[in-house]
Amino acid sequence: RFISFEGIDGAGKTTQIASLCERIRAAGYDVVLTREPGGTPLGEKIRGMLLGDEMTLEAETLLFFAARAEHVAKTIRPALERGAWVISDRFADATYAYQVGGKGLAEEKARSIEDWTLSGFAPDLTVLFDLSPECAAARRGARGAAADRFEREGLDFFSRVRRRYLERASAAPERFLVVDASLAPEAIAAQIAERVSSWL
Ligand code: C5P
Ligand code: MG
Repeated sequence: RFISFEGIDGAGKTTQIASLCERIRAAGYDVVLTREPGGTPLGEKIRGMLLGDEMTLEAETLLFFAARAEHVAKTIRPALERGAWVISDRFADATYAYQVGGKGLAEEKARSIEDWTLSGFAPDLTVLFDLSPECAAARRGARGAAADRFEREGLDFFSRVRRRYLERASAAPERFLVVDASLAPEAIAAQIAERVSSWL
């Protein structure tokens, strides 16, 4: 099974990813934990460029998909083929949320690059952490300085990103689990556990 975690920066994905991983391992499965941008040696180099350097929206989008194509071919598919579970901190929905929703890239462009590079490959489940941009900013503030150039964007940007994530979730309700990220971590973990229970 391939599961992606999505949400605006500061929504709390990281904690929940660790807890789901542990649950799946406890059930006796091999789990590969990975992230985007990243997930392969080349992908991690691309991550460094994406998070550090200012660039055009076109360059940014193509680099995300370049890293993603590597990620699928070298990490995700091989793991799934040997029967492991794969959990990725972000996947293609992030491009629709950030580059299309947040920055105004034409959706058809993202879609055509996605069709070209992924040919329909998608997660079995996407857990979306939904949180107000104000609350997410407060959480990010609590953990210190912005981790990367995306985290320096303002509330308007994160409202657009959030809205696009929710639109994607309502367009594909069978793939998405939307959790209220303002709930207690234990409550969120329980919702995720319930959703994957039939697979374990
Ligand atoms: O580790 P984290 O998910 O925070 O780092 C990835 C960063 O890249 C985030 O700040 C996120 O805003 C940004 N990102 C993006 N577009 C994507 C995926 C991630 O802008 N498609
Ligand atoms: Mg971040």
